[in-house]
Amino acid sequence: MAWIRIRCRPLLVLYVALSSILGAIDASAGDADPVYRACVDQCENTGCVGAKCFQHCNFSKGNAIDGPWYLQEPLYLRWKRWDCQSDCRYECMLTREEERKELGYKPVKYYGKWPFHRVYGIQEPVSVALSVLNLAIQFHGWVSFFILVNYKLPFRPNKKVYYEYTGLWNIYAMLAMNSWFWSAVFHSRDVDFTEKLDYSSAVAVLGYSLLLAILRVFNVKDEAARVMVTAPVIAFVTTHILYLNFYQLDYGLNMKVCVVMGVLQLLLWGIWAGVSQHPSRWKLWVVVVGGGIGMLLEIFDFPPYWGLVDAHALWHATTIPLTYLWWSFVRDDSEFRTSALLKKIK
Ligand SMILES: [Zn+2]
Repeated sequence: MAWIRIRCRPLLVLYVALSSILGAIDASAGDADPVYRACVDQCENTGCVGAKCFQHCNFSKGNAIDGPWYLQEPLYLRWKRWDCQSDCRYECMLTREEERKELGYKPVKYYGKWPFHRVYGIQEPVSVALSVLNLAIQFHGWVSFFILVNYKLPFRPNKKVYYEYTGLWNIYAMLAMNSWFWSAVFHSRDVDFTEKLDYSSAVAVLGYSLLLAILRVFNVKDEAARVMVTAPVIAFVTTHILYLNFYQLDYGLNMKVCVVMGVLQLLLWGIWAGVSQHPSRWKLWVVVVGGGIGMLLEIFDFPPYWGLVDAHALWHATTIPLTYLWWSFVRDDSEFRTSALLKKIK
């Protein structure tokens, strides 16, 4: 259910991209802890945390990272260094969290992220699996809608479909599937570009679904009127995406923009369900209430259970049944509009 998707974890991804590359910026309580810092320093020097040693940390020390290109270390060495740093940080985090747990402390964030347990090198395996499931459900929903409109429902005399929102829903499906794809990639490994792609795709589908909500709720069918509504929404969403990518990835601002767009479309659908007497309005209500609860999960972030399931992952779980119901509403709507138009003709 990407149209209520916020994908805006203000603190969770703060500094991660930058700090992993520059290795200098600290953001969270976890990585400010002197015990943790000492562990990382020692690991980067010796290549070991306790009995565990890392292959990547076997390199000759003292190479200059800055300086002219002919004095810089080769790319593969830099990669090795980077892998070493990443392994050390991960191992020290696990060790420190274990110690903290024994002392009765709650989990803290490291570089803006909760301490997740990697599975086969995947950072947030549960969120990845749920993103893939969401993608599958979106695909299923879209295909079933496509078959209904193009193969089962009657056509107009000019061989076109009756349902006026067919094209708009097709575009929505593409944007939603795109955003779940990048969500899966981002949760596997968060680096600068996967993070930006995930945020941008999420903002795109959220903005587009707001546009779709306005067009459907106010029954905008006229071409000129559609352009009048579409132009400002697309201009705003595009500007926001460009701002995030090329000026500043401002998590607080993005959160506000996403919440406003999300709440607005939930309100539109919710109120419309009340006044329109649409035959499938209960589906809208379930999605609106479910979407609101999902939004709360996203805002009230909590640390992962068993190092695997955090609020964000749970939220990805709630969108699976909601997406199923959502496409079922879209199919109902196409049938409803088609039969209404057929009645008008007769
Ligand atoms: Zn996510």
